[in-house]
Amino acid sequence: MIKTIDKLTPKDLTEEILFWKEKREAIILAHVYQPGEIQDIADFTGDSLFLSQQAAKTRAKVIVFCGVHFMAEIAAILSPEKIVLLPEVKAGCPMADMAPFRKVKNKINEIPQAVVISYVNSSAAVKSLSDYCCTSANAVQVAQAIPAEKDILFLPDMNLADFTARKAKRNIIAWQGYCPVHNILTKEDIIKAKNHHPKALLLIHPECRPEVCDLADYVGSTRGIINFASNNSAKEYIIGTELGIFYPLKKNNPDKQFFPASEKMICQDMKLITLEKVLYSLKNLTPRITVQEDIRKKSLKALNRMMEIT
Ligand code: SF4
Repeated sequence: MIKTIDKLTPKDLTEEILFWKEKREAIILAHVYQPGEIQDIADFTGDSLFLSQQAAKTRAKVIVFCGVHFMAEIAAILSPEKIVLLPEVKAGCPMADMAPFRKVKNKINEIPQAVVISYVNSSAAVKSLSDYCCTSANAVQVAQAIPAEKDILFLPDMNLADFTARKAKRNIIAWQGYCPVHNILTKEDIIKAKNHHPKALLLIHPECRPEVCDLADYVGSTRGIINFASNNSAKEYIIGTELGIFYPLKKNNPDKQFFPASEKMICQDMKLITLEKVLYSLKNLTPRITVQEDIRKKSLKALNRMMEIT
């Protein structure tokens, strides 16, 4: 009897995915905010930059990107000869959408003297308008590479812009975008979590508000948070980022305890991808993400400038 995709058990689905992955000569990449079962079938899990670097290095012909739209776009920018699939085409990033191409272009025209740094959480079109890209792990390093007398237009995240300006000691004009998942975390949430877990260290993502970052023992990217918790001797941690990160944190550190700074920190877009959609995508080689060649070349320059610095 032939089973339709929606009738397959998780075990059947995994087997089918592995079969089609081999047949398509594909690689599966999953962001650490993805559901655990998606992280389990991935060849690589990590943050957006790490995954894109894997995408660029791989000999695979097909890249299945389990993340959101801008991440698959980065893979398409770095690997134009490969087929890049995003199993759920509606998986977007509300923060990236807060910096639309036309508005960014107008702003750049208003302040032509400013150096433009765009966080990788932006569209390929916006990257193509930028001098540099950055990630949450290297934003400070990229800003420090800009001469101190220059103005920097930083987009789209105002919280990461604030963190970068303070650490890099640069004059930053911040685009007023934010990640709704990280910006939701308040100082009051932190005080409450600390009262419940007084011995825990507080690890915070820099997309959180400045007053929240100020209370942290460590502020860093998802990779930074995972490394910090894995290498530190403390046994308890309060984590201020998207809840998907608990999956690798717990898996890698079974002897440690992790508590969410807030249960509200869930990115709905990151949860849109399912095993069924991954299988459908591999079988049908759709939905495919491509980037227009002129935009790709310009955005590649901004990404390469970041890589040269870091
Ligand atoms: S967690 Fe925030 S920045 Fe990341 S994809 Fe979701 S909305 Fe965008």
